Amino acid sequence: MRANLFVYREADDPWLRQMRREPVETLAAALPRLSRVTGEFAIAGDIKVRPADLYVSTGYRQPGIVLVGDAFAATCPVTGTGTDKVFTDVSQLCNVHIPAWLASEGMSEAKIASFYDDPVKKECDAWSMAKAISFRQVSMDTGLYWRAQRWARFLAWFGEGRLRRLRQAISAESKLRTHSSSSSSSSLSSSA
Ligand SMILES: Cc1cc2nc3c(=O)[nH]c(=O)nc-3n(C[C@H](O)[C@H](O)[C@H](O)COP(=O)(O)OP(=O)(O)OC[C@H]3O[C@@H](n4cnc5c(N)ncnc54)[C@H](O)[C@@H]3O)c2cc1C
Repeated sequence: MRANLFVYREADDPWLRQMRREPVETLAAALPRLSRVTGEFAIAGDIKVRPADLYVSTGYRQPGIVLVGDAFAATCPVTGTGTDKVFTDVSQLCNVHIPAWLASEGMSEAKIASFYDDPVKKECDAWSMAKAISFRQVSMDTGLYWRAQRWARFLAWFGEGRLRRLRQAISAESKLRTHSSSSSSSSLSSSA
């Protein structure tokens, strides 16, 4: 199994070196209750540490070329919006812009600009960026609002976890009841 762990740390943070050297111990110290959920675990392969920067390209308004997806602007992987972004770009390009561009001669900067100014693309990029920023805030920001958000999320997940366990216990019990009533009826029929 491969696991991705996203953390908001600077590239030279000693924690990253420690994570690479002693991953199980470092994880256990950072997430003391993790093993309650996962059980005991070992890490078999190498730890790969990669930076994820939120960048927006510059100087992209050029004749004859368009940047899509991450090439135009990367998002935070935590948001899960990177594929939405690239598919939105490609869909708008293929369905709206390229057919219009090919209807006349040339591929000037003015033509290409219609893609970057596309409201659907801009809205998707803005949504993705806003999500990246709010994920960071809900993880790190110490302001009252974001601390309340963290607690709200914690309580919602805690409640969800409890409910799941309760549902599992109820379904296990009802299966046990069905099983014991069907085995007692089959023993009745065999003795009859
Ligand atoms: C760890 C991680 C987890 C992620 N999880 C999610 C997720 O759950 N959901 C989600 O929506 N998004 C996720 N993302 C983001 C998502 O992967 C990207 O936003 C998305 O792949 C961007 O697509 P793209 O086509 O723009 O770029 P890419 O997928 O990076 O594709 C670019 C391609 O171009 C190739 N290439 C580069 N240079 C050249 C060259 N000179 N010649 C030829 N080929 C070249 C590369 O090899 C690559 O295959 C995650 C990102 C990371 C890093």
